[in-house]
Amino acid sequence: MCYLELIILVQKCIMKYISDLPIAVELFYIHGLTIKQIESKLLNEDYCLEDIESYKDNETVQLSLKAWKMYSGVKSREKKLEEQWPWLGFAKWYLDQDQVCYYCELPQQKVFDYLTYVFENKGHKRMATRGHSLELDRKNYDSIYQESDCVLSCYICNNAKSDVFEAEEFKSIGLFIAKEILKTV
Ligand SMILES: [Zn+2]
Repeated sequence: MCYLELIILVQKCIMKYISDLPIAVELFYIHGLTIKQIESKLLNEDYCLEDIESYKDNETVQLSLKAWKMYSGVKSREKKLEEQWPWLGFAKWYLDQDQVCYYCELPQQKVFDYLTYVFENKGHKRMATRGHSLELDRKNYDSIYQESDCVLSCYICNNAKSDVFEAEEFKSIGLFIAKEILKTV
């Protein structure tokens, strides 16, 4: 079964009903249903919310939801996104990523644990609103949103890098940040 077919199905699902996105991926990968079977299942009126609930902790489902959330977030502030990086391409790219920060190379959970530690032990007044998930970072100041120009970055690295450093310049700084974080968590 062609990967592209799945992505097309996912796109169809998004137009119909956001919750069907991870379900489609789940049915395809885990349950081995064909695209035709998935389509008829998802378009069935009896398809119930209980089914959706039962898949929600699956890793592929979680990743699919994160991909869509990230894409929608960028789309709301970047009008040309769909033109520069269509959803189909983005989804495929996102699902292929290692889910670690490109700069410090830490998984999201480590960064979140560190931010939680800072909040609980250093007297910060509130938990940072960012930091709950990896962010999409344009590598260089003149980069646009497209596959070759973007990486996943943690909140701490993305914030520190700003639009001042270019990706390769910041890489060594990111590794120092990781060293510091790993002393604590
Ligand atoms: Zn990082």
